[in-house]
Amino acid sequence: MRSAQNVDPEEVAKFEQLASRWWDPESEFKPLHQINPLRLNYIDERVSLAGKKVLDVGCGGGILSESMALRGATVTGIDMGAAPLSVARLHSMESGVEVDYRRIPVEELAEEIPGTFDVITCLEMLEHVPDPASIVTACRKLLKPGGKIFFATLNRTPKSWLFAIVGAEYILKLLPKGTHEHSKFIKPHELCEWMRHSNLTVNDMTGMTYNPLTQVYRLNKNDTSVNYLIYGSLEESL
Ligand code: SAH
Repeated sequence: MRSAQNVDPEEVAKFEQLASRWWDPESEFKPLHQINPLRLNYIDERVSLAGKKVLDVGCGGGILSESMALRGATVTGIDMGAAPLSVARLHSMESGVEVDYRRIPVEELAEEIPGTFDVITCLEMLEHVPDPASIVTACRKLLKPGGKIFFATLNRTPKSWLFAIVGAEYILKLLPKGTHEHSKFIKPHELCEWMRHSNLTVNDMTGMTYNPLTQVYRLNKNDTSVNYLIYGSLEESL
């Protein structure tokens, strides 16, 4: 089946291995904990999460999923890693923040329940799959008309090689070596092209920058050269 092939077992295995430390803010997942308030606010400011039906694609241990549920959204989180999902479910039991977690490829969910979600988030995941364009198409099928979508990934630039790989994995050791492969990074124009091909309108784009000296992350419209977030929508009439 085509959908079953759009998963790279080696990529998923990387996250399975680290999963037990997902909610430790000083672990390999520290960067996700640090950027979460920024991206959560970016999303909430644009879609008003309260009362919305949200799908978080590649949710991992659920850092973003739970934070969106806390803002009043009804959240479904999907991932192909068994261990991250177990951690996500355990954490949700402990915190009492309800999220419906499922292990299913997004392409399969799109066949099962098309046109279901007001908002879809797919953050820091596209650079780990063999065919990211297929993920974009499946997400579009899962959106209600007028639905909103957010993607975040790493840009394929010399600076992202220096910052996201050499800096983060080798010098600062924020991430384990081999977490990211530069060739899988995605240029914004490529992602925008896949979105438009799926009839998604691109509304906004912003960079996420990290200052290694101050250890502060910021949203920065003028610098999408390393990590960036794209906000799109599915027009009502389509
Ligand atoms: N989106 C989360 C986690 C990012 S880590 C956040 O930003 O906080 C990347 C996640 O993508 C991991 O949990 C990994 O298991 C998942 N992943 C990798 N390939 C996938 C695929 N084909 N389908 C669904 N999830 C996948």
